[in-house]
Amino acid sequence: MNESDKKTRALSAKALLAAFDLKPKKSKGQNFLADPATALACVNRADLSPDDVVLEIGPGLGALTIPMSDVVKQVIAVEWDSNLVRVLTHQVESMDIKNVEILNQDILKTDIREIAVRAGSNLVVMANLPYNISSQVLIRLIQSRELFKKAALMFQTELAQRIMAEPGNKDYGRITVLAQYTSQIRVLYSLGPAHFHPKPKVDSQVLEFRFKKPDPAVDEDILFAVVKAAFSKRRKTLKNALSNGELPLTGELAQTALGQAGIDPMRRAETLSVDEFVVLSQAVASVMP
Ligand code: SAM
Repeated sequence: MNESDKKTRALSAKALLAAFDLKPKKSKGQNFLADPATALACVNRADLSPDDVVLEIGPGLGALTIPMSDVVKQVIAVEWDSNLVRVLTHQVESMDIKNVEILNQDILKTDIREIAVRAGSNLVVMANLPYNISSQVLIRLIQSRELFKKAALMFQTELAQRIMAEPGNKDYGRITVLAQYTSQIRVLYSLGPAHFHPKPKVDSQVLEFRFKKPDPAVDEDILFAVVKAAFSKRRKTLKNALSNGELPLTGELAQTALGQAGIDPMRRAETLSVDEFVVLSQAVASVMP
């Protein structure tokens, strides 16, 4: 890389947007990592290996993409906004980077399985997620978790707290149980609004997910349906919540399943541990007509 390339690489988000005469789109969660030093620190914290292929969701101006391309085998970057694809393509080409593939697509419509087949066994997901789609993206990743080695995802701190919540906490909910059942999760780091351009109103946190292998003794469709039913009426007792129509259970069958699982039917969803949800789903499977 020559000196002028290095300078381009080190441009802040603000300077890059100005150079390409672009304005961030609020509706697409476009809060870019403001400076290259922070982006580099984020990449270092992700502990990536030379064999990894990264699926990056929402690369934006390439703050993470470009430093990642130095340390991994390949980056496959999925960006919805064609203007940003233009900037990123220019950046990658001007730095003569050969291991970045840019797909101008909506991640919610992307065939992740096809990317995984091309990537082989070391697919890692990295995403500074647009906040409006972060739950949906996480659920999609969980549903195809056998494809990934790990994921490092940035969330609004409020959602990160819901994902990491303990039973009995007001933040404990459906997304908590889905995430904790399927993954080993840890906080990698936190970033305040000053690290972004434009500054968001909220703090952000990056969580690392190491996905667990599915347990053959658990029917996940039933487990996830039980969790959905239980939390869709979180103020109701479990007996009422489980027989409210999400599942083919009468009040009597719900009571039997709860009895079999050793769970008091008067308890509420937010008090059940992840393990109790698993036992309950097995009991529900055994009484379902
Ligand atoms: N990774 C960059 C960074 O850290 O500076 C940008 C992060 S910004 C919070 C989110 C990015 O996701 C934006 O570039 C936005 O255009 C993109 N995006 C939003 N919705 C998307 C979608 N459905 N599919 C793919 N990318 C999307």
